[in-house]
Amino acid sequence: MSEIRSMRGTIEPVSEDVSVNLVAPPGAGGSWASTPTVRRVMQANKSRDTKPEMAVRRIVHSRGLRYRVNVRPEPALRRTADIVFSRARVAVFIDGCFWHGCREHHVLSKTNTDYWRAKVGRNIARDRGTDEALSRAGWAVLRFWEHENPSLAADRIVEAVAERSQPRGGPRAGVGVAVDSAFRIDVLRPGPGKVVL
Ligand SMILES: [Zn+2]
Repeated sequence: MSEIRSMRGTIEPVSEDVSVNLVAPPGAGGSWASTPTVRRVMQANKSRDTKPEMAVRRIVHSRGLRYRVNVRPEPALRRTADIVFSRARVAVFIDGCFWHGCREHHVLSKTNTDYWRAKVGRNIARDRGTDEALSRAGWAVLRFWEHENPSLAADRIVEAVAERSQPRGGPRAGVGVAVDSAFRIDVLRPGPGKVVL
């Protein structure tokens, strides 16, 4: 039984961070790290504090905004955003062109094509799941490709944060309100049979 299992190859669990999850493609042998594809992946794999991300951060910072980096917007949701504005509830992702399947720059590997296609496909599906879950929780999700102009990206971030930081005299309009109020109603609703003191 265990033999059958091992013949199916090892499929790595989907982890929180694909960048720490680089494993040898099945059947790649021992020298897989020497292929051009993998080298490119590994170069693109310095996912913490990448150059494009740093550039965006620097500009946003110079415009007076403060933020947290590489944290989970929603602690219960195991997804880490690159730049997080907690009060405005804006989560920013700077997506690497290879890992996240940029249409302009993602070049399919010539070796282990199916493996990489599947892997990047899972990343893309995961990104959409992240977007959805965060939106439902009341976050504005901004995604940029690493190839995008950092200054234009910063413009949009600053705009989104400003827009969502304005007091509106009530619960924030837009996504998430339904979730919030449902939650509050649930919490505040007296339980069955009032407690009589
Ligand atoms: Zn790209």
